[in-house]
Amino acid sequence: MDKTYLDRGSTSLLKDIDTENYNVVLISPRAYFLFTPLLPSSTVGTVELRSIMQPIRFITRFKSREVLFIEGSCTDIDPQKKLITVEDSSEIKGEVSKQQIKYDYLVVGVGAENATFNIPGVREFACFLKESWDARKIRSQLLDSLESAAFPGQPEEEIKRLLHMVVVGGGPTGIEYAAGLHDFLEEDVKIWYPEIAGKFRITLVEATPHVLPAFSKDLIAYTEKTFAENKVTILNNTAVKKVNQKDIVVLNKDKELESIPYGLLVWATGNTARPLVADLMKKLGPTAQAQRRGLTVDEHLIVAGSDNSIYALGDASATKWAPTGQVASRQGSYLAEHFRTLYELKKKATNSDSKVLLSQVDPFVYNHRGSLAYVGGDKAIAELPGNIHLSGAATYLFWKSAYLSNLFSLRNRILVGFDWVKCKMFGRDIGRE
Ligand code: NAD
Repeated sequence: MDKTYLDRGSTSLLKDIDTENYNVVLISPRAYFLFTPLLPSSTVGTVELRSIMQPIRFITRFKSREVLFIEGSCTDIDPQKKLITVEDSSEIKGEVSKQQIKYDYLVVGVGAENATFNIPGVREFACFLKESWDARKIRSQLLDSLESAAFPGQPEEEIKRLLHMVVVGGGPTGIEYAAGLHDFLEEDVKIWYPEIAGKFRITLVEATPHVLPAFSKDLIAYTEKTFAENKVTILNNTAVKKVNQKDIVVLNKDKELESIPYGLLVWATGNTARPLVADLMKKLGPTAQAQRRGLTVDEHLIVAGSDNSIYALGDASATKWAPTGQVASRQGSYLAEHFRTLYELKKKATNSDSKVLLSQVDPFVYNHRGSLAYVGGDKAIAELPGNIHLSGAATYLFWKSAYLSNLFSLRNRILVGFDWVKCKMFGRDIGRE
């Protein structure tokens, strides 16, 4: 069995899969698992980046049989020959930097990439919020903007621009980032940069009439009210059309083009399929693969149009559920169980036809456990099954405990717990590596 990249679903599959029955080969360009829900917190130093990373070898060493890990990117999938191409994507390459690997089963858990909608300038000037290097870049640019604003003789207009932090996208990623940024500016930066305190502004730009479209109306209203109290501006019905080095051009709510200068621009407008996934979809044909955001899968997470040997999970797949970490994690555990059952059935089977075997395997079932989002000022919102809606400071404690329990290992939980205590006792670090 081979895998490509590593998202939350892949990691949960890796944790649960029985390596006695399968030879597992894991392919990922990065040698660690990253808990992305806390990535916004890491950009402002509420948690350390290392605390939300789990090296892959910390997972594989506990497996009963060896898992072969290859640090590289899968660049091609040949569903006919059951062959994948892996390339060493790191800076230092040896004599061999490209290999082809055969698979019996392939699980595609490569996640998704940032949607830019081909808006000019986004890739060049905006910061994304998906990978560890994105968080480092945001932190560096944020602190750089503060120092440049504090530079002696800086004109007022330029200070205003440098201290204007713009977030594009009012989904949970944009909201949680803006919320964390507000806390950092209010609680820490004001103390360390008194000369520019009070001049920071945060603006969140959202193309639709409201932020957090997946949440219920009362929780959206609560979020918008909390942002207003925290003086974080939300520009609803405003779509970014172009990104320049120092300003964005938006089509505002009055349907007029307007320039908004910024010091830091964070882009959080959702996900789109990675080129590897888009290419596989093309190979499998438009009848089987008609969705643009990812691979269409059946009730066993088998990729439509494949010969029952390719599976997809997490953000690489397009299902009826929202592309959340919760769904991906559940899909990973399901696939581990699915392969265990398949192995047992194959051992006993008189007819080894995959369709016959699969008809005896339980389909994937998902029970949603609720959605949470941090909205700033030690307040969070929660939408739980049974139409339960919670908001406020107590919900923030719930948010914290839910994120803590979803972290990958006890080690990560202890590190993040310490980071939170450290942050309360000494404030956030304003240093740069
Ligand atoms: P999203 O797709 O949820 O939100 C992106 C937002 O950007 C949308 O509201 C869209 O209208 C807006 N947008 C798009 N183009 C724009 C433009 N040109 N100008 C202005 N606004 C524009 O994206 P996300 O927040 O990255 O989340 C991705 C997925 O991950 C979602 O399914 C989300 O539920 C999940 N997620 C959940 C949590 C949580 O539950 N706490 C946290 C992070 C992500």
